[in-house]
Amino acid sequence: MELTVLGSAGTWPGPGGATCGHLLSHEGTHIWLDAGTGTFARLQQHIDIDQIAAIVITHGHTDHFIDVVPAFYARHYGGMGAPNLPFYSPDGFVEGMSMLTSENGRNVMAEAYDFRTVGGGDVFDVGPLHVTAYTMTHIGVNAVGYRIEAGGAVLAYTGDSGPCEEVVEMSRDADLMVAEATYQDASNQAFFHMSATQAAQHAAAAGAKRLLLTHILPTLDREISRDEAAVAFDGVIDLAEDDMTIEVVPMTATEIAP
Ligand SMILES: [Zn+2]
Ligand SMILES: [Zn+2]
Repeated sequence: MELTVLGSAGTWPGPGGATCGHLLSHEGTHIWLDAGTGTFARLQQHIDIDQIAAIVITHGHTDHFIDVVPAFYARHYGGMGAPNLPFYSPDGFVEGMSMLTSENGRNVMAEAYDFRTVGGGDVFDVGPLHVTAYTMTHIGVNAVGYRIEAGGAVLAYTGDSGPCEEVVEMSRDADLMVAEATYQDASNQAFFHMSATQAAQHAAAAGAKRLLLTHILPTLDREISRDEAAVAFDGVIDLAEDDMTIEVVPMTATEIAP
């Protein structure tokens, strides 16, 4: 399984950047996992628009989904992709997102996308990728995180969440945990996001083998996030960079030994 980061900024993009979005690929099947600002343009640098097998969204905050609108334009009006693309999102997402289009736009979008609602505990498959949804702790909208398994490897992605036991459960023994790390220790923190320290504590509690920090506010010095995480988690820690690719493979104990 291969993870390509299409966007990594939390909340708003910095210069030339993009907010949260990923391409997850295995044996020629591609999932667009969150679709934040700027990620659709970047996705096309990696695959063609008609190669998307499914769109999978964590929650209805625009920094995680706004680019599904131009993708709909391209697929429907540009003829770049078959109708009824599987589209997974939590309860209430479609109603909120649909406010961005006219009534006619909504009807046409329902032809382009085959909307499927997911909540905590739901499982679904996209080709060889097996996905389980977990309820996250967020604010204003329903939010889920995803545990995705393929080729014997496990990736866990929080989307947006504050500290909670579900993040640990979802990330149990994951080969790669992609965790939001909005804050740093000195930030004015809120219950619906995590700091780098909290992300690392959850990774350690879960026995995750590798940690990728994302959704870091663009105003923060990212190296401080890495340093703070390293206090609580002794595995490999990476900072999500736009266009970086990580091979997610089953990791053995010897491979992760320091
Ligand atoms: Zn966010
Ligand atoms: Zn959010």
